[in-house]
Amino acid sequence: MITDRQSGVDLSELSTWRIGGSAERVYFPRDFAELAECAREARASESRFFLVGLGSNLLFSSAGVEFPLIVTREMTACGPYEAAQAAHSIFAPVADAAGNRENLLYVEAGAPNTRVIQQCIERGLGDLTCLTGVPGSFGGAVAMNAESVVELMHENMWLAEISRETGEIGVKPAAECTYDYRYCSVQESILGAVLLRLQPADSDKMRRIVEERSEERARKLPLDWPSAGCVFRNPPRDSAGALLDMAGMKELQRGGAMYSPRHANFIVNTGGATSDDVVELMVSGKRTVWEKFGRSLQPEVKFVGRFDEKALEYLHANLEEDDGS
Ligand SMILES: Cc1cc2nc3c(=O)[nH]c(=O)nc-3n(C[C@H](O)[C@H](O)[C@H](O)COP(=O)(O)OP(=O)(O)OC[C@H]3O[C@@H](n4cnc5c(N)ncnc54)[C@H](O)[C@@H]3O)c2cc1C
Repeated sequence: MITDRQSGVDLSELSTWRIGGSAERVYFPRDFAELAECAREARASESRFFLVGLGSNLLFSSAGVEFPLIVTREMTACGPYEAAQAAHSIFAPVADAAGNRENLLYVEAGAPNTRVIQQCIERGLGDLTCLTGVPGSFGGAVAMNAESVVELMHENMWLAEISRETGEIGVKPAAECTYDYRYCSVQESILGAVLLRLQPADSDKMRRIVEERSEERARKLPLDWPSAGCVFRNPPRDSAGALLDMAGMKELQRGGAMYSPRHANFIVNTGGATSDDVVELMVSGKRTVWEKFGRSLQPEVKFVGRFDEKALEYLHANLEEDDGS
């Protein structure tokens, strides 16, 4: 039975940006079985629902979200395959094919990347240090193909998914997914858990890499303000941050939102920012970069809830294509 289903949830608590109104219905499943049940219940009452990991790539509307949200943050199991009963029931069909079971790591979708990396270091298995500093869940990292983790792991990762349409549970190799820059087709379904086959690796070396990367990120990124990381995707062979910087966006402010002086592709919440403030800044950034450099930026962050439709249409438009036709 699902015990944690809440209404009137403050969305700013579910997003690293600390922005958002309230949500009418939010589920917090605690394991794979509850996730499947939540999906069934949400589907039965509404045609649309949205999956949330740790909300580090999401802009929730300050006007609120009317459809159900399923938040995986309570599903944090992460450990050896042999020790996890749930892993056995889900991944039994592939565990034999996966080989040496001592090298297998079972990860539920909501487990934070920090925890997965820590497990790798503790068990001398690697290497997922590429996810250092990506402040989301492992499910969110796979869905967003963060730091190309799906490319990196595609031959050594199995995904347990629940179909949005039928509620059916299926297990498949990640190699069967479609993936691209900041995209994996698992976004179209519900990722519940992952089985990873990892190679033995040097714990001290991984620890050093994590320390170095964390220091480098702390130096380069504005981690002292709430944000959702880069707001725009990098265009092919270009850097969105460099384009926004050259376009003079740094420090441009709307309400409580501001293009960071340290990294122009970060919009930070300096206090009390609304989703409209962020959208206005993004529209302004996209327009200026287009007018000055003829490059059409595309949002990396996802918009969840009620927004000005015209503004979102503009943000998602490919101006280069429109221009050429
Ligand atoms: C300070 C900062 C730095 C960042 N640096 C990086 C970086 O270096 N590289 C990078 O790639 N990203 C970076 N990000 C962005 C973000 O952390 C990643 O996109 C992250 O992988 C999102 O994970 P999440 O759990 O927060 O997902 P959410 O933001 O909650 O969701 C993101 C998307 O994944 C989907 N999703 C989440 N869980 C599931 C699931 N179980 N099944 C199906 N779909 C799911 C959601 O529906 C949504 O479409 C950064 C963000 C911040 C705030």
